[in-house]
Amino acid sequence: MSVLSGLNPAPIWIYFEEICKIPRLSKNEGKIRNYLLDFALRNNLGSKEDSAGNILIVRPASKGYENISTLVLQSHMDMVGEKNADHPHNWSADPIMPVLDNGWVKASGTTLGADDGVGIAAQMAVLTDSDLKAGKIECLFTVDEESGMTGALNLKPDFFEGRILINLDSEDEGILFIGCAGGIDTICEMKFKSLPVPDGLTALAISVTGLRGGHSGDEIHKGYGNAIKLMNRILLDLSRKFDTLLSIFDGGNLRNAIPRESFAVIVVKKGLKNDVTDRIAAFQKEFEAEFGEVEKELKVTIKENDLPAVVMDRDSHSMLLDSLDRCPHGVIAWSKDIEDLVETSTNLASIRFAGDDDIKIVTTQRSSVESSKYSAAVLVESCFETTGATISHSEGYPGWKPDLNSGILKITVESYRRLFGKLPEVKAIHAGLECGLIYEKFKGIDMISFGPTIRGAHTPEEKIEVRTVQMFWDLLIDVIRNTPAKH
Ligand SMILES: [Zn+2]
Repeated sequence: MSVLSGLNPAPIWIYFEEICKIPRLSKNEGKIRNYLLDFALRNNLGSKEDSAGNILIVRPASKGYENISTLVLQSHMDMVGEKNADHPHNWSADPIMPVLDNGWVKASGTTLGADDGVGIAAQMAVLTDSDLKAGKIECLFTVDEESGMTGALNLKPDFFEGRILINLDSEDEGILFIGCAGGIDTICEMKFKSLPVPDGLTALAISVTGLRGGHSGDEIHKGYGNAIKLMNRILLDLSRKFDTLLSIFDGGNLRNAIPRESFAVIVVKKGLKNDVTDRIAAFQKEFEAEFGEVEKELKVTIKENDLPAVVMDRDSHSMLLDSLDRCPHGVIAWSKDIEDLVETSTNLASIRFAGDDDIKIVTTQRSSVESSKYSAAVLVESCFETTGATISHSEGYPGWKPDLNSGILKITVESYRRLFGKLPEVKAIHAGLECGLIYEKFKGIDMISFGPTIRGAHTPEEKIEVRTVQMFWDLLIDVIRNTPAKH
């Protein structure tokens, strides 16, 4: 029984409901790939695939429209599989069950896969729209967007010919996206010298917890506390005032998350234990005053700990704490073109003590400007250089620099204004998108990204607003109709 029949525009919802039946988690896109290739065959459309698993389906130009520029429409085939703990769902076999809920479509107990199933459905609807008169349209379906972007990463520069591209993987009706950030990791691995714990000392465990954390791209400008930076302030202060020594310092977890928690074990002369405890209580007050409402759950605690066998020697100790003190965290530069857009930032993501004498520190830099991304990575590297650490950078991924003079942006803004009687917002995001990889590979390509409103993506609460799917479709068709002639 169809749940979504009766919704408009009918072709998108019919295809969307079909796609819901096809398991398609990242790196397991075989079934959806076969479905799309079969769809192309049934509709007499040319198709091809590449070694990464990406698919291209081509709609030839309508008669008389051969001189119109080729347009590329892009979505990704894979989806994130999240479900409620009590909901049985076999991700490699079971269909997703869409339900209508007060103007929205959601799934029963699982992610819906509107990210990016609605993009796929829109492409299929364009490919089979017999009323549409248009130039040549290439529909690009990438694999693995959600877990590594290996599809976009391995695209060959001759896989499609169009140099105007509409990415259909955005989640806010009324907003046109024209840029994203690239990223690179800077990783610092150092060895430290240790010494046996001197007599007459006692050990204390300190924790900084309850911070909000958040995404190191989207939320880096919000002023949330960094648990590693806060712990480092405490450790520096204690070592200067009370001659404490450090045994363990761990904090943070994922490279793309702002660290929420950190833990340390220090040793101090027995007689100074109460002074240290008082100072920790003072830090709790200081941090509360600094962060106020932004970090309401922030907690600094201290308790007794078993005496460790060894601690870091003085030199290693100050080298580590001084370099972490110098290491920046947060926004480095704001965009000059787009209001409220973070252009360049860095996240001090994690620190881990391992083995007897190893410390690993992971940081991530982001920027929509390639040169600024590298300069931020060098800035962070320089903070750790004097420690004698081994510093390495990940290969990274490129950004997509916003171009306010983009041709496809002008066309889309004008279509939007004509259709809906108001201007859309124009934005860029401070996180990675497949567009960054495409932008780097297909030199001179003119791109834009828009979509209907989706909320709760990547969670079982994911839902898509029905009303905005019609607006998305109307805009897409209007932009297709206004694609300029080749020159
Ligand atoms: Zn997506």
